[in-house]
Amino acid sequence: MQTFVETGLKPEILQALESIGFEKPTPIQAKAIPHLINSDKDLLAYAQTGTGKTAAFSLPLIHGIDEKSDDINAIILCPTRELCLQIERDIQTFIKYIPALKAMAVYGGESIDRQIKGLRSKPNIIVGTPGRVCDLIRRKRLQLGNINYLVLDEADEMLTMGFKDELDQILSACPSERQTLCFSATMPRELLRIANEYMDSPDEITAGQRNVSAENVKHVYLVADRSDKYEVLKRVADINPNIYAIVFCRTRMGTKEVADRLMADKYAADALHGDLSQAQRDYVMNKFRKKQIQILVATDVAARGIDVNDLTHVINYELPDQLEAYIHRSGRTGRAGKEGMAVSLITRRDLSRISQLERKIGKKISKKKIPTGQEICQRQLFSMVDKFVATDVNDDINEYLPMIEEKMEALSKEELIKKFVSSEFNRFLSYYKNSQDLNTKDRSKKTRGGKYSRFHINVGKKQGLDPKGIIGILNDTRNLRNIEVGQIDIMNNFSFFEVPNDREQDVIPALDGARYKSQQIEIELAKPKPSSSSSSNYDRPRKARFNKSKSGGGSGGSSRGRGRFSKGASGKSSGKSRSSRFSY
Ligand code: ADP
Ligand code: MG
Repeated sequence: MQTFVETGLKPEILQALESIGFEKPTPIQAKAIPHLINSDKDLLAYAQTGTGKTAAFSLPLIHGIDEKSDDINAIILCPTRELCLQIERDIQTFIKYIPALKAMAVYGGESIDRQIKGLRSKPNIIVGTPGRVCDLIRRKRLQLGNINYLVLDEADEMLTMGFKDELDQILSACPSERQTLCFSATMPRELLRIANEYMDSPDEITAGQRNVSAENVKHVYLVADRSDKYEVLKRVADINPNIYAIVFCRTRMGTKEVADRLMADKYAADALHGDLSQAQRDYVMNKFRKKQIQILVATDVAARGIDVNDLTHVINYELPDQLEAYIHRSGRTGRAGKEGMAVSLITRRDLSRISQLERKIGKKISKKKIPTGQEICQRQLFSMVDKFVATDVNDDINEYLPMIEEKMEALSKEELIKKFVSSEFNRFLSYYKNSQDLNTKDRSKKTRGGKYSRFHINVGKKQGLDPKGIIGILNDTRNLRNIEVGQIDIMNNFSFFEVPNDREQDVIPALDGARYKSQQIEIELAKPKPSSSSSSNYDRPRKARFNKSKSGGGSGGSSRGRGRFSKGASGKSSGKSRSSRFSY
């Protein structure tokens, strides 16, 4: 299918598409639109991020809706507020030549009363997050009894976020003769159940191309010690002067920590994760869209569906638990015909996952060296000089020139250049002056102890636990899956295990309520094992017992200092935010 005209969409819709420059359908659109116009069968569509799903389901739905009806005709469910607003915005542009049609977004974090009021104006299309939609149904403010279309967008993500019960409730509130469309990148078991239960022998389609832009993405990885990761991240940022990137972390806590460190180090960075209030998220996203933030540190869920087209880099500060997510992440760069780079910062332990990933994406992921301080300085310097040379001269300075010349009379051209470079560049030089080459760093010192945190659990040999069992317990825990495990010691009634100490704070919250067989696991931080490694001298747990009322208070994200961004992300070399111009 070459054109939208061939899909059979109404003229008003075609006109809207033309006005926004959509020339031809993407593969998923070419498949889904005619299908939905011509058939009322349910549809299960697999498609990656960036393949144009929003238009794939919205256009046929807009085409099929009777705009004179006073009922809600279609409901689109999606996982986050950002996505909800984005879909609603897209729909508003698609319906701009059909004035009688109305679309509205409902989501948590905004006054429900305001949304209830909005619903009185009889919108035809609702875009909503499952939680808020359920709430509105419960309050009898949202009647879905007459809908013709139900769309689940990013269905797998909605399940990952724990919206299973809400989806069940919403789906059962809809009439059975509706048409259900489910868009998902993966098909987890639970989604299969939903499809079986709520969809009527759906047709299945897959977007031919995994990602419209995947061709433009170069994949690289850097190997570093875990404890050097943050430094490596800074170097990647520093060697890419005009970086505009999302840095992915696995947990909210990790996200916050990396972003806080970057901000403290004067990068134009911020975090986006689920612990932020809606107002904070909007604020961050706005700044990122305007490029006042150059580096957005985010969790997969928070970044899902966010449509920013010109990212230069996607950085995996940690590889995702699921390989699928790697594709989602890297699909955020290299869009709209631009080149992009997916950079993974890994430890040696992750090497095997790189080859798995290569098979999955069908592309080579090349190893890159961690830039040295000297390389960075050189590039930053050239970048600065380039900017300097390219600066437009403002004639207003003419009147000051005689004074300036007088003051600088004694300086030779060479001295002048040196002084200028030093004044702009000393900070950078001194930061990297004695920096190590992280590729060749001496690793002999890196033995256990100091690098690992040790935990005590109340389960041991008597309960049938062995080292595999411990790894099993960790692997069954969402936030600890694939965590590196150090030494394990299994005693009769209790055991110890080690994890890298930068993950220390993740362990206790993640195992809250976990069980081994039927026994409730109690976990405590233990003292490091004495280096003599005499196994008789077992350390007693440190006092800090885990108390059930959530100890992770520091991760709340409410104490965020606003207004700390360094300016100048848009290429103005204020010298505050580090930027240079080299691609990496
Ligand atoms: P997905 O939901 O699959 O992640 P989106 O629907 O958000 O993708 O679309 C990704 C980007 O591609 C958006 O910026 C959108 O405006 C653009 N886009 C979608 N369809 C087309 C098209 N047919 N022609 C040009 N751009 C398109
Ligand atoms: Mg989408």
